[in-house]
Amino acid sequence: MAKKFYIQTYGCQMNQYDSERIAQVMRRSDYVQTDRVDAADLILLNTCSVRDKAEQKVYSALGSWKEFKDYRDGVIIGVGGCVAQQEGENLLRRVPHLDLVFGTHNIHKLAELVEQVENLHTRPVETTFYRDPAYMEESDGRTKVSGVKAFVTIMQGCNKVCSFCIVPHVRGREVSRPSAKVIAEVESLIAQGVKEVMLLGQNVNSYGKLTPGELSFAELLCRVDAIDGIERIRFTTSHPQDLSPQLVEAFATCKNLCEHLHLPVQSGSDEVLVRMRRGYSQQEYLQRIGRLRDRCPEVALSTDIIVGFPGETDAEFEQTLELLRHVEYDEIFSFMYSPRPQTVSAKIYDDDIPDDVKRERLRIVQALQQSISLVKNRRRIGDRDEILVDGSSKLKNGQLMGRTRTNRIVNITAPENLVGQIVPVRITSATANSLLGEVLSGSDSLNPQPEGKVA
Ligand code: SAM
Repeated sequence: MAKKFYIQTYGCQMNQYDSERIAQVMRRSDYVQTDRVDAADLILLNTCSVRDKAEQKVYSALGSWKEFKDYRDGVIIGVGGCVAQQEGENLLRRVPHLDLVFGTHNIHKLAELVEQVENLHTRPVETTFYRDPAYMEESDGRTKVSGVKAFVTIMQGCNKVCSFCIVPHVRGREVSRPSAKVIAEVESLIAQGVKEVMLLGQNVNSYGKLTPGELSFAELLCRVDAIDGIERIRFTTSHPQDLSPQLVEAFATCKNLCEHLHLPVQSGSDEVLVRMRRGYSQQEYLQRIGRLRDRCPEVALSTDIIVGFPGETDAEFEQTLELLRHVEYDEIFSFMYSPRPQTVSAKIYDDDIPDDVKRERLRIVQALQQSISLVKNRRRIGDRDEILVDGSSKLKNGQLMGRTRTNRIVNITAPENLVGQIVPVRITSATANSLLGEVLSGSDSLNPQPEGKVA
């Protein structure tokens, strides 16, 4: 009987993509995937270390899995991803029932490492970083996707020096996949029925910069846009410093590029931005999104905010609130500052904002954004739009949910066979987090070319 593997994934879209690769590697070694951890011969945890809380979840999951090794012979437990990269050997010391550790560049080695545990009874640790992008490729290409949406990694790592961020330490320096590989992967996904691709990287808009002769990110987007059959393109994450005029232009000209940009600002205070080493001022950030809104007025914006960065005064925090009121983001992701090992801010600043102040600032930021989102969403009532139907609504009320090109969630009452389809809807009501819509019949449907696009 084939051996079974189980994967638990924490963290960002990059980790979700990596877990798909992990599954592919193990399937090639004749393992089959199970969604029952208690039935697995191989239990894998793909981890995130961007904040301390994410790291703590790793130790608690590993602790709870010890019992599986106690009552079944031969169960192997492995940890991959950012905590694996960060901790390496330490993880084996700290978790005696752990069998193997593989870093962010070592997914292609996983089957070999599992074999070492099975046959040699060793506890391997593999966390080598590579500069050659070949480590991001599978010998048999992308073999399996489920659904009509897929992630595609275009680059890994980050050369920025944001003082709070552990990513360059656990994902390495920027390495771009050859554009020919990216395009071939998207073509193969489209041939398998995929309608929407999300191009992934820690800083996608510096794609290709370090590879002589390679396409720029904007050029790559235009090539992907031209692939026959593709319906929607998204990407994440971008650093504001690298939001080039060419990328802004791509939003105006690539007809399948969705009108949504996630552009993490982190703070509205210039002093905090300097301490964060973000490389832009509030004004420069606003100019960049101003240019984007000029060329693509319907673009939706989302951002990341860190509250309680070392030394953040009430006045500096107020500037973040001011920025949120001014920009009117469609969505924000907000976090309390968490000092991370190896980062500059953890080394040179005291984590001096008390937890209760961080918590209160987080509450204030989130409450403000809820009120902004509610007003913006209510403006949509009566609009026609189109959504790609994802599946059951998170409200668990029998409705389906989908996303507009601008990434807004719309819940609809509709038959299951619409899952995976792009359907026209009219917005009938709104909350801060989602919209409610009714499906329009074919004759009410939209023009295929959304307004605001220059052909
Ligand atoms: N490449 C992205 C950027 O533009 O900076 C960062 C991606 S990071 C995985 C996602 C978000 O986590 C960041 O934008 C930031 O808001 C938050 N984050 C990162 N490090 C953090 C830290 N030490 N404490 C709190 N939040 C953090």
